[in-house]
Amino acid sequence: MSKWESNVRTVVPYTPGEQPKLDQMIKLNTNENPYPPAPGVEKVLREFDVNRLRMYPDPLVADLRNAIAKQYGVSFDETFVGIGSDDVLAMVFMTFFNSERPILFPDITYSFYDVWANMLRIPFEQLPLDENFQIRPEDYKKPNGGVIFPNPNAPTGELLPLSVVEEIVKANPDVVVVVDEAYIDFGGESALPLIHSYENLLVVQTFSKSRSMAGSRIGYCFGSKKLIQYLNDVKYSFNSYTIDAVTIALGKAAVEDQAYFEETRAKIIETREWTKQELKRLGFVFGDSKSNFIFATHPNIDNVALFEALRKAHIFVRHFNQPERIQPYLRITIGTQDEMKILIEFLENYLHV
Ligand code: PMP
Repeated sequence: MSKWESNVRTVVPYTPGEQPKLDQMIKLNTNENPYPPAPGVEKVLREFDVNRLRMYPDPLVADLRNAIAKQYGVSFDETFVGIGSDDVLAMVFMTFFNSERPILFPDITYSFYDVWANMLRIPFEQLPLDENFQIRPEDYKKPNGGVIFPNPNAPTGELLPLSVVEEIVKANPDVVVVVDEAYIDFGGESALPLIHSYENLLVVQTFSKSRSMAGSRIGYCFGSKKLIQYLNDVKYSFNSYTIDAVTIALGKAAVEDQAYFEETRAKIIETREWTKQELKRLGFVFGDSKSNFIFATHPNIDNVALFEALRKAHIFVRHFNQPERIQPYLRITIGTQDEMKILIEFLENYLHV
């Protein structure tokens, strides 16, 4: 090791899901939306005046922030936008988790949380989910430096009722509590209304799942004006121009088409419930996911062998090696109805049903 390397900030990076380059495949491994973005998005892209790229984009991201704020009935000052919710969350970790006490999050959860905590040297404690992969709210009622959890949780898909989310927020008035609602639009009740009662609550959402825009990288969060101000101070200390001009215009078109949003999320929910019935028939075991994926295991089969067999057939799902408790599971994103039919047919053959 060279001497200079002793000063390097070494990190174990987050591993994103695979993005295979194949023309024909069924891609159920990264919780993307199988439907295209709202039709208005394509129109804006086609008509975008490239001359606008000469100039820096709006550092306030006002068009997009206003459109999001209007859609959700909050004010501009209660809305923050970032490059995907990963960027929003990274800024949140940097801004609000600045205590010597550990931040708290579940042991089985979005695997980026411990990466940010390690990178930013934030102490953390991972609280075990119960045997049914449920968060135990009482675990979050002890001194801490902040609280974060996804709702629904990932990769389990388990949803906490809003009353339990509020119970956790209420028990933690002295720290910032972050609810990561990447998957809330697939059947959960958002904690957004609570931001008016709790000035320390942040609710994070994304365009990547329910708005079919993972490729545009738009995430946002809602919180009290004070929280958003603190977050913006940190964001502008890194990079004033995070969202590019094209993305601002595309995002605005996406969020304004509420009818399309309702239609596509309803289709995904319907397909998810159909897939649950079929997987159950085939002997799979899983919780009652309220997200756009199902986290399933099968008592009689080796899931890694199944994962590889699916892969060979160009059907991609996700397997996590860590933590050990989730090794027997596969996370299957909900695709179109046709894609899920092909998956089920494959599984029937594989299981000789
Ligand atoms: N939170 C959770 C729980 C997620 O699963 C994801 C998707 N990987 C994200 C946040 C980040 O999504 P994005 O950056 O695309 O908004």
